[in-house]
This record gives sequence, C-alpha cells and structure tokens, in this order.
Amino acid sequence: MIGFGSIGRGALPLIERHFTFDRERLIIIDPSDQNKALIDESGFQYLQMGLTQANYREILTPLLTRGGGRGFCVNLSVDVASLDIIRLCRDIGCLYVDTATEPWPGFFFDADMDPAARTNYALREMVRKERRENPGAVTAVSGSGANPGMVSWLAKQALVNVATDLGLKFEIPQTREEWARLMQKAGVKGMHIAERDTQKTSHIKRRECFFNTWSVEGIIAEGVQPAELGWGTHEKWMPDNAHRHKNGCLAGIYLMQPGANTRVHSWCPTPGPQYGFLVSHNESISIADYFTVGDPAAPEYRPTVHYAYHPCNHAVLSLNEMFGGGSVPQKNHHLLEADEIVEGRDELGVLLYGHDKNAYWYGSQLSIEETRALAPNQNATGLQVTSGVLAGMAWALENPNAGVCEADEMDFRKCLEVQTPYLGTMAGVYTEWTPLSNRQSFFPEDLDTEDPWQFRNILVRRGL
Ligand code: NAD
Repeated sequence: MIGFGSIGRGALPLIERHFTFDRERLIIIDPSDQNKALIDESGFQYLQMGLTQANYREILTPLLTRGGGRGFCVNLSVDVASLDIIRLCRDIGCLYVDTATEPWPGFFFDADMDPAARTNYALREMVRKERRENPGAVTAVSGSGANPGMVSWLAKQALVNVATDLGLKFEIPQTREEWARLMQKAGVKGMHIAERDTQKTSHIKRRECFFNTWSVEGIIAEGVQPAELGWGTHEKWMPDNAHRHKNGCLAGIYLMQPGANTRVHSWCPTPGPQYGFLVSHNESISIADYFTVGDPAAPEYRPTVHYAYHPCNHAVLSLNEMFGGGSVPQKNHHLLEADEIVEGRDELGVLLYGHDKNAYWYGSQLSIEETRALAPNQNATGLQVTSGVLAGMAWALENPNAGVCEADEMDFRKCLEVQTPYLGTMAGVYTEWTPLSNRQSFFPEDLDTEDPWQFRNILVRRGL
C-alpha cells in the first residue's frame, strides 16, 4: 500500500475485513509518520520513505514479487505518478488500483506550464495512451474511489432508474455504445457530480490553516487546476475563456480559471439549490467520453458532465482565504478527524438533468454517526472513497486480466453491491429545480430562458 493518509488509513481496515491475504506481505510505504500509531497497532510492516521517479522500481519490484503468487499494489498516495506505477505493475504481472491519476510532484503548481497540460484531461490521456499501446494484460484500475469511481456506477444506476420511470422500453445495456444510446434516448442533457459535505468540526477555522475532510494537499492541487468539464452536444454557448483540446478523446473543455474558484448552480437533496465549485475531475471527462454517441470529433450525442462540489464549510472558507491571498496555499493543514466531527454528512451523487422528468439525483447520504458505526479511522467522505477502493479491488480480483480500466468500464452492479453497505442511505430523488428556478436577479443577466439546462445558466457569471 502506497500512501497512508486519510484514505489509506481508512482503506486498510476494510481490506483486512474483506480479503484473505498473507499478512506478512502487506507493507505500507509513506514518508510521513503522522499515522504511525495506527500502523503499529495494525502490526503490518512499514517502510517510512517517499517513492520517487528514481527509486520506485527498485523499491516496489521486490515487495510486489517476493514469495510468488500475485502481488496487489494499492496506490493511495499523493505525488507518486500513477502511470509509472501502473507500468511497473504491468511489467511484473501485479494487480493495481488507485483513486486518482497523480503525477510526480510539481505538476499541479507549475505556473509556467500550458494550462491545457495541467488538466485532468491531459493526465487521463497519458493513461489512455498507455492502454492503447499495451492493451489487455493484468488489471490496473485507474480511479476507483468515490469520484472518480463510485459516481460512474451511480450514473448507470441513475440512468436505468430514469429510463424506467420515463416508461422507456430497454434492456440493460451491455456495451459502451448501448449505454450511450440509452442516455441519449432518455433525453439526458447533462450530469452534475453533485456533492454537499455538511460535516462540521468543533474547532474554529483558524487563519492561515486549510481545513478539509480529505487530503488538504489534494483539494489544493485539484483546486488550482483549470475548471474542466465534459462538453455536451446540447450546449449552444461556450464561455469566452473556454478551450477545446486538440488531441485525445475530445470529450472535454477547460476554462482559463481555477476550478475551485469557479462556481456553478447545482442541487443536492439536503440543501436544495446550492453553489458548487467546478473543480476539475477525471470522471467529468471519462463519463462524457463513455456516453458519447458517434464520431468523437462531431458527436451525435454527448452529455455535459462536471463536478459541482460544495466541500465542508471550513474548506469553503479555506479556499476563499487561499484565493484571496493570491492563490498561495496555506502552510498549515487540518484534516477533520472522525472523532472531532460533531455532526453532518457527505451527500454525494449524480444529478441527471434535462430529461422529461427534469432532474434526478441519485447517490449516497452518509452521516458521521453511520460512518463511525461502520468502519474505523475515517469520516463520511473517507468511507465513500475507501468503499470504492474495496469495490475496485474486488472487481480486479474477479477480473484479473482486464488491462487498464476506468470505473465506467467495470460492472456497476457488482461494484455497487460491494460498496453499498458502506454508503448510508441510497437516495433517488426527482426535483423540479432548474438553474433558472427562483432566480432573483438584481442585475440583468445573460441567460438562456428557452433552455434552463444550458451551461450558460449553470455557470455563475457577472451580470450584463
Ligand atoms: P493524504 O494527503 O491524506 O495522504 C496522502 C499520503 O501520501 C500522505 O500520507 C503522504 O505522506 C503520502 N505520500 C506523499 N508523497 C509520497 C511518496 N513520494 N511516496 C509515498 N507516499 C507519499 O491524501 P488522501 O486524502 O489519503 O488521498 C490520497 C489519494 O486519494 C489522492 O490521490 C487523492 O486525490 C485521492 N482521493 C480520491 C478520492 C476519490 O473519490 N476518487 C477522494 C479522496 C482522495
């Protein structure tokens, strides 16, 4: 296991609970000893060091091959390039899972880099290239957490629910093309990965300290990437600062502004209408790509897909402080621990919109109390992610020769079956809300009143 931060330490007890393995061979690698007490308690071996571009092969190869059998590399670190570890695992025939496509350090914060090269689109294209050039072989699951991960499985279940409620005649799709056609037939214009985290700590938000319910480093890194989204065929307008990519799957666009400083109108069951941040995420592109009908360069159909993330209130304040301070990340970080959270839940789902029943949110509502009863060492956000890791591992073990895979290509029913016991309430809710509902404008706005579900109405912009 590479990385023993908020996700690693939550995943470990679930791995112990659900899999039979040789305990002597599980080794945790992490340069930080922040969670050393938990490692000591677990009795597993601990290598306190950081993997680098120079040492990763030398360090990992013996650990993953010694003793025969098939190794399994669970990569839950930051700053370790996923693609290099995937390549190594494929070379030595070892299973692999991660929850995000991470680069080596420096990538996210290189202000001299072309913004297009700092996108998740670019990171995903590198993984797609590897897969194109080396198809098949041992399974490497790229992005099997909550999002990316679970939300791709939720999207399929949500689509089946909407198509059923619309009275469509259909069989459960078996191929990517059939899924895309069903999405098109259901008239879904787009999808928000719509999240509201209401977990609260008893600690006040100190100045110059970034608070979050998962990796502070992670939210800062993705927050300063360009805002990014899968770009649907129903869109009639594009922001002035939007750019298309020249190569690759062509499913996404990016804006010349940081995702965590870009707001969108969205909706979750608990708050109803809310602002979310349009943070760049792998699944915004992968889901839009997966549900594309026709030629990717001139598609017949594609949904708009993006993240609309309202992190916990302290994280919202922390982002405000960071961007207000000139986009300079705070040096002090505070992870909201399960035992300091006084109340709240993480509500994470998909909002399928633009069809004849308007919009449908389907997802997990997991409270901190439920989380404490279900699994140790993590908060609700963590458990939504670690149960996704569990599902990815279970799927990889049952499908060991599937090559490099994304969550969209995995068996959504099987993965949700593994994960659902850890997700609290699974809610499916229709709403009449649209981005134009109850919108009180104190200034003239440049809106599309003909089609409420245009990105033009979703993106928060200045008045005219
Ligand atoms: P974290 O910051 O809490 O932990 C990351 C760990 O990686 C730290 O303990 C750190 O010391 C370790 N690390 C740093 N450099 C390393 C190196 N060179 N070698 C080995 N270990 C190193 O982060 P987290 O919240 O546990 O997140 C871990 C990963 O999971 C990140 O990539 C994050 O983006 C991803 N994530 C995915 C989802 C999802 O839903 N898919 C959700 C949350 C986090």
